[in-house]
Amino acid sequence: MKTVFSGIQPSGALHVGNYVGAIHNWVQMQDQYRCIYCVVDYHAITQDYEVKQMSARVREMALDILALGVDPEKAILFVQSAVPEHTELAWIFGAVTGHGDLERMTQFKDKSASQPDNVNAGLFFYPVPQAADILLYKAELVPVGADQVQHLELARRVARSFNHRWGKVFPECEAKLTATPKVLGLDGKAKMSKSLGNHIPLTSIEDRPLRKLLGRMVTDEKRVTREDPGDPDVCNVFSFHKIFSTADDQAWVRQGCTTAGIGCVDCKGRLAERMVDHFAGYRERRAELLAHPGRVDEILAAGAEKARAIAQRTLAEVRQKLGLWRSR
Ligand code: ADP
Repeated sequence: MKTVFSGIQPSGALHVGNYVGAIHNWVQMQDQYRCIYCVVDYHAITQDYEVKQMSARVREMALDILALGVDPEKAILFVQSAVPEHTELAWIFGAVTGHGDLERMTQFKDKSASQPDNVNAGLFFYPVPQAADILLYKAELVPVGADQVQHLELARRVARSFNHRWGKVFPECEAKLTATPKVLGLDGKAKMSKSLGNHIPLTSIEDRPLRKLLGRMVTDEKRVTREDPGDPDVCNVFSFHKIFSTADDQAWVRQGCTTAGIGCVDCKGRLAERMVDHFAGYRERRAELLAHPGRVDEILAAGAEKARAIAQRTLAEVRQKLGLWRSR
C-alpha cells in the first residue's frame, strides 16, 4: 500500500482553496492508502506570529481537518514539532540540495515580497524541511494544490541525490492534484489565499455571511448591467458552480446568464445554497469537536506516537547510511 503525506501550516481557519485544492484529496485518499497528515508548526515560524496564539492555531487547524472528514481511525494526524526527526532529516537533506535549485523557487520570491522586513533563511530553506516531512515517511503521493508542484519536484531531486550519494533509502514522491488544483479568490484573478484577503473561510459558509462574501466576488467584467448577457466561461462564480453545484444548476446558470435571464445576484444566491449544503457535515462535526476540545489533543497525541515510530525507523536507516557517530 502506498504511503501518502501532506502538511498544512497552522495559519488560522482553512479556506475554500485549501479544501478544494488539497484537503478534499486528503479525505478521499484515506480509504485507499496509508495516509499521514501533519500540521506543520515548524514551518509557521518563518512568518511573524504571536507566540501565545500558536497552540490555539494548531488545534484549530487540526479541528478543521477532522471536521472536513479526515478520520483518525484511517489516517494519522499529528503536529510536526511532536516528531523532532523532521528537523534532523531536514538538516541532512540540506547537504544534497542545490543552492541554485532553491533560488528558483517561486514561493520564496512571493513570500519574501510579502514580508520584506523578515526575509529569513528559513523562508529560503523551506522546501528542504518540506522534502524531509514527506520522505521521513517514505511517502510516494502528496495531495497538494498546484502551487506546491515546484516544491515536489525539488523533493524528488533531493531523494534522487540522497540515494545516489549514500544508497537507496527514499522513493520518488509526486504531487496528487485534485480536479481543481488552483482556486481563484474573490477577485477572480489571484490564487485564493488568506494573505491576499481574497479568501472564503470555511467558517463563513453559513447563509448570511457567505452571501455577503459572494457579493464581493468579481463576475464577467464585460457584463456591466443586469440587461447585458454574460459569459460563464470567464466568470469565477461559474467555476465555483462547477465545483459545488449539480449539472442542472450549471445548465440553469449557463442558460440564464448568456440570455440575461438571471442576474449575478441570482447566480450567487444559488451558489451560496449549494455551498451551505456541501459543508453541512463539516459544520456539524466542527460543532461537536468544539464541544469536546480534549478529543482533538488526544487524536494528535496518538497520531504523533504512530508517526514518530515510523520516523525513528527511517532516521536509524539514514544515520547508518551516512556513517554518523550516533548510528554505531
Ligand atoms: P502551506 O504554506 O502549508 O502550503 P497554504 O495554506 O498555502 O499553506 O496551503 C495549504 C494547502 O492548500 C497546500 O496544499 C496548497 O497547495 C493548497 N492551496 C492553498 N491555496 C490554494 C488555492 N487557492 N487553490 C488550490 N489549492 C490551494
